[in-house]
Amino acid sequence: APADAVAAYGEYLRSRGRRKEAMARFQEVNDLWASGGADAPAERVAVVRARFAIMEMDPGFQGQMNATLDILAEPLRRGLPEASVLLADLYRRHDQTEKVPNALRPLLERNPFHVEALVVAARAKEARFESGEAAEFARKALSVDPVHPGAVEVLALLRHGDGDRRGAEEMVRKALAAHPRDRGLLSLAAIPEWLDGRRDAFEEAAKRVLAVDPTCADPFLHTARVLEDRRRFAEAVELSRRAAEVDPSDPEAWFSLGRNLLNLGDEEGAKAALDRAAKADPWRCIFRENFRSVLDELATYATGRTPNFEIRIHRGEDAVLRPLYERALESSYEDLRKRYGFTPETPILAEVFRDAADFSARTLGVPGFGAVGACFGKVVTLDSPGALPPGAFCWRATAHHEMAHVFHLQMTKGRVPRWFTEGLSVHEERLARPSWVRVMDRELASALANGEVHGLLELDGAFRGPSIQWAYYQGGLMCDWLEREFGLPKILEMLRLYGEDLGNEEVVRRALGLSPAEFDASFLRYCGRLVEGWKVRPRWSEGKFKEFRRRSGADPKDLEAHLLFAEACLQRDKAIDAGTALARARAVAPQDPFLTELRGLLQLSGTKAREQGMALLREALAAGRDHYDLRMMLAADAEGAGRLEEAVEHWRKAKLHLPRAQGRADPRRELARVLAAQGKPGEALRELEEMAAIGESDI
Ligand SMILES: [Zn+2]
Repeated sequence: APADAVAAYGEYLRSRGRRKEAMARFQEVNDLWASGGADAPAERVAVVRARFAIMEMDPGFQGQMNATLDILAEPLRRGLPEASVLLADLYRRHDQTEKVPNALRPLLERNPFHVEALVVAARAKEARFESGEAAEFARKALSVDPVHPGAVEVLALLRHGDGDRRGAEEMVRKALAAHPRDRGLLSLAAIPEWLDGRRDAFEEAAKRVLAVDPTCADPFLHTARVLEDRRRFAEAVELSRRAAEVDPSDPEAWFSLGRNLLNLGDEEGAKAALDRAAKADPWRCIFRENFRSVLDELATYATGRTPNFEIRIHRGEDAVLRPLYERALESSYEDLRKRYGFTPETPILAEVFRDAADFSARTLGVPGFGAVGACFGKVVTLDSPGALPPGAFCWRATAHHEMAHVFHLQMTKGRVPRWFTEGLSVHEERLARPSWVRVMDRELASALANGEVHGLLELDGAFRGPSIQWAYYQGGLMCDWLEREFGLPKILEMLRLYGEDLGNEEVVRRALGLSPAEFDASFLRYCGRLVEGWKVRPRWSEGKFKEFRRRSGADPKDLEAHLLFAEACLQRDKAIDAGTALARARAVAPQDPFLTELRGLLQLSGTKAREQGMALLREALAAGRDHYDLRMMLAADAEGAGRLEEAVEHWRKAKLHLPRAQGRADPRRELARVLAAQGKPGEALRELEEMAAIGESDI
């Protein structure tokens, strides 16, 4: 038989758990190749598939990677689609996901809807945590084959990760109707049973998979992954162990076990499991290797106990930092214990990393994680103050923030949604010391003007997007509001309800008596009250930019649209479009002060007309236009011209327009500088004190 038919039969046998027979078929293919047969391009692809299967099933065959890849060169040169897909999939499995797009490009250029290629691309994106793009590829694959098991698997797991259970279950149901004996789909069908606490039904579902393939660990592994996503690590450990029992040769089972033991703080157990995964796996896995090497690094750290903590610190920093961390962690623990009326399970393992890359590796398995602290419920990982340049973050605030997560996660058995635990942690930072939280008032004003304040049901998604900083800040604002408006007991009740595995909608209905829409409306009113009295121009969003453009184009009489469109253009350095819009505005109301201001800004956007530009801004101010940005520009200009009294007056007004401006945007900084130079040290000092009260990290 030609090699591809034999290899396909081997794969079928393998998918039914008949590994010995499968192995014999794969060996047969390999022998064919060795004896000079199986040389046609399609057969070569089959030989490569067979050899990789042997490598996965027999660790003794490992190390044949390059020789095997050489066989693929000819089919690739001939442009065989299966060869490109196979190569891309090998890169994916071998942790070279960065090479996947190139491997698939020629194929996807010829056929943008090649389903298998799209599924490999989706899996590769998923491995890089680029879940948005992964979902896009999977959806594209499903647009061709709506019940493709691989695409359904990718998308269903992503949906579970986003808490969209209904969407995930619906897809799996449909696909199962078409592929009733697919192991992956049957495994996905087990997940909801576990999430609903129906253990018997879960076992039944797992049995249906094992009836097809007694060596398939997927029902346990898929469910473990969803539980890990939801920080239910103890259950994920239990299921990973089951997976390793079903298939002790599956590296993924041991890796999942190792990861989740790490999350629980059992580092010895984790190391054993990770070692076992490494041994069983012919493929490279950077995450796993990073975990292993950071565990070796941690073995050299100093370890000490306090009443509630086990603290690890690099030996070089131990003498200086240990007393600080001991005091900080115990004091945060005590404050939060009183506030939440809850005593967490201890000891809590706190690891303080001297090296930001080690922190990131211990937390995620890869370097480059942007955060400075992380919490797994009973484990807290932290950057030490020395891990980043001085002033990069406030270690004490981070420790407090992560400690607050310990409470939320333990109180809800990991079921608290992201927005609520992050929001509460930011809120706790602010309660502990208002200056710990970076103020984003400007962003708040813009978000309100742009209609971009997230609703209750969307906020979790924002933590995966590009405006994650804002998501934290908005979560914090929501929790400020919740405590102010409803009181701490309601927050505690919400935690209790989340702990019962209820979703956002049900929790706010029961605890606050609000529908999500009422919750959102009430929160928006609170935000509106916060910005009352501020005078600061929004940074217009793309959506608003387009809206203003449309309105301005549609109605020559719409003065507001012309002005706002011009403003949005100027924010995007589109001077020509701004000029056109201003000409239209001039035709309607030539004396409008906002128009005068924008004409000034347009002049200033070029370099030549600075004087005319500033004159127009002064004219706008005299005509009643007044806000933070205008005052800051006028102040800088006045100072440059030596009119210090005038500059001071502008900065004082700017302070009123945006009371909590921070950092370089803070008029107090300028006031302090100029007042000190004018020989008024007392007044300068007052400005500095005000600055410190708003944000200590900016000094
Ligand atoms: Zn956090």
